Amino acid sequence: MPGGWSKLRDVRKLAETRAEFEFDIPVAELPGIPSDVAAAGGSLHALLRFGREQGFAIADIALRGAVQALCQRCTQAVAVSMDTDSRLAVVESEPDADAVPAGWDTYLALEGRLDLAALVAEEVLLALPIVALHEHAACRPPAAATAEEPQAEPVEERTRPFADLRALLERGAKPK
Ligand SMILES: [Zn+2]
Repeated sequence: MPGGWSKLRDVRKLAETRAEFEFDIPVAELPGIPSDVAAAGGSLHALLRFGREQGFAIADIALRGAVQALCQRCTQAVAVSMDTDSRLAVVESEPDADAVPAGWDTYLALEGRLDLAALVAEEVLLALPIVALHEHAACRPPAAATAEEPQAEPVEERTRPFADLRALLERGAKPK
C-alpha cells in the first residue's frame, strides 16, 4: 500500500489494536525535512508499533537506513546513518504531555490524529546532526583548496608602495 503512511489515524484506535506498520518511506515524503536532505532522495525503513502503557498511548519507532545531508565543510553529500529506536508517549494536548511520567519522550498528535509520516519525520529531524560533516581526511573546505596558491597576495600588497616608488624612480631617471 504505497503512500499509506500519509493519512491521519486515530491514536486511541492505534493503541487499542496494538497496530503495527512496516514500510519504506521516501525521504522526500517526510514533512518538514530540510530541503537539501529531501532533494537527495533515498528512503528509510520504518517499523512502528503502538500500544498502551500506564494509560498512555505508546509508539515504538525503529528507523533503519541513511539520509543524505550536505557536508558543511566540503559542501558535498554526506550520508547520515539513521539507526534509531525510540519509545514515545503520544499525547493529544499540551496538558496531557505534562501528565506523562518524567523521562518519557512525548509526541503531540493534536485531537488524537496521527500522521505516520510526520511521526517518522520527527525522529529523522532529531537524529540529524545540526552540522553534518564527513569524517574522512579528503573532506576539505572548497575555499581552502584555492587558498593554497595565491598566498603571495598579501605580501604583494605590502610591497606595492616600494614597487610604485621604484617605478617612479625609474621613470624619473629615464632621460627624456
Ligand atoms: Zn565533507
